[in-house]
Amino acid sequence: MSLPQSTNPSFWTQTAVPAQPGNSLQEEIRRDVTIIGAGITGLRAALELAKAGLNVALLDSHEPGWGASGRTGGQVNPLAHAVPEKIITQLGDTYGPRMLESYVNSGNELFNLINEYKLDCDAVQNGWIRGAHCNSAIKDLEEMHKGWSEFGLDISFLEGEELQRVSGSNAYQTATVVKSGGCIQPLSYSRELARVASQHGAEIYSQSPALSITPADKQWQINTPKGKVTSDWVLFCTNGYTDNTLKGLKQTIVPLISVQAVTRPLTDDEYDAILPQGHTLSDTRRVIYYCRKDNKNRLLFGSLGMSEQCNNADRKRLHKAINHVFPQFSAADLDVYWGGRLAFTPEVLPHLHEPAPGILAGLGYNGRGVAMGTVMGRILSERVLGKAPEDLAIPTTNFKAFPFHGMHKLGVYSAIKYYEMRDSMDTRTS
Ligand SMILES: Cc1cc2nc3c(=O)[nH]c(=O)nc-3n(C[C@H](O)[C@H](O)[C@H](O)COP(=O)(O)OP(=O)(O)OC[C@H]3O[C@@H](n4cnc5c(N)ncnc54)[C@H](O)[C@@H]3O)c2cc1C
Repeated sequence: MSLPQSTNPSFWTQTAVPAQPGNSLQEEIRRDVTIIGAGITGLRAALELAKAGLNVALLDSHEPGWGASGRTGGQVNPLAHAVPEKIITQLGDTYGPRMLESYVNSGNELFNLINEYKLDCDAVQNGWIRGAHCNSAIKDLEEMHKGWSEFGLDISFLEGEELQRVSGSNAYQTATVVKSGGCIQPLSYSRELARVASQHGAEIYSQSPALSITPADKQWQINTPKGKVTSDWVLFCTNGYTDNTLKGLKQTIVPLISVQAVTRPLTDDEYDAILPQGHTLSDTRRVIYYCRKDNKNRLLFGSLGMSEQCNNADRKRLHKAINHVFPQFSAADLDVYWGGRLAFTPEVLPHLHEPAPGILAGLGYNGRGVAMGTVMGRILSERVLGKAPEDLAIPTTNFKAFPFHGMHKLGVYSAIKYYEMRDSMDTRTS
């Protein structure tokens, strides 16, 4: 099998808490549960299952937090992309409201988990601002505000000078703010989840790619280069890095690349002028701009991109973007660049699958996986611990290949170019 290419280390590697020492799987073992993928989803599931007393083996091709979870913007965004009405139409009267509740509660679920286990990950829950990038996007924000506040989300409007003061930017005239949003140091969050899961008895094996899965006397055997795990349950938590280990899973999502850069260390005045109350900021662009401070002395800024290495074209896009939102910064102020893969689904909602008895997969957060991966990990553990699929918050669905999956690279490239042009036309005509 070919492992994903190594990528530029993210800025988070410079400030994260140390990783736990990691071993690869070198023997044949039996455990109650095998989890594949040590990102936020797999680590949360491992923690809950180990806490419940099950024997858990967690395998990662690399190490905890190596995937998107250790490279993300770390924004906790407790909101889906669509209005509640649409989600209820998509999922029906049982699962629709449950999915909405999962989103609405996801911010508090994550911050409560951090408090409960004293996870050392620079957590700040000071709200998430979402700015309208053009006049027509204000209508979308109004619809989202109406629908989600009716559903219990604490979401309000910020406008004009107040918005400019709280964001430190003149790029937006109208925005919503979700109070339960916030941010974390995501690699620290991943490593801290690994630490507490290990303390509860979960065994975490790094550099241990799952190569194949085979039935083994009413159980499942996962084969790695130097070892095997046999267990009753296998959980696939591989999101944007899903490979062909479980036939058909990779085709259910399209990996999108998100890229980020961080500024040089800022002076106190520069730092205090941006997001002075510690909010995070993103916007309504189709090719989103998002940013936050690191809670020390830098600003992180991201968007969608084409290469996990954050190639020259991606860097130019980031230069233009940061200069648009914060004109005081240009290319010369950006220090470290990196990228990673997130998973996009056709319904723009997460997927839960149970393709055979004992096999589960949870993925497809469409760029909102910091909070929703935390939720999904818990839901996967609930299923293993005996909850029936019909009682879970997320519907269990069959694998369905993403339309034209084989051509997704070309499709994503063309879509980004096209939507970028539309975003820029929007701002010119507003
Ligand atoms: C640059 C960037 C910025 C983002 N910003 C935000 C944000 O601000 N807010 C937000 O909510 N979301 C954001 N996202 C999305 C979010 O990070 C992801 O949705 C979330 O981290 C997914 O977590 P996960 O645990 O499901 O998957 P990942 O963290 O991607 O972990 C998957 C793991 O599976 C492992 N793996 C894959 N195949 C195998 C195999 N065969 N055997 C063993 N291991 C395997 C990989 O090594 C990897 O460690 C961002 C994503 C990126 C890339």
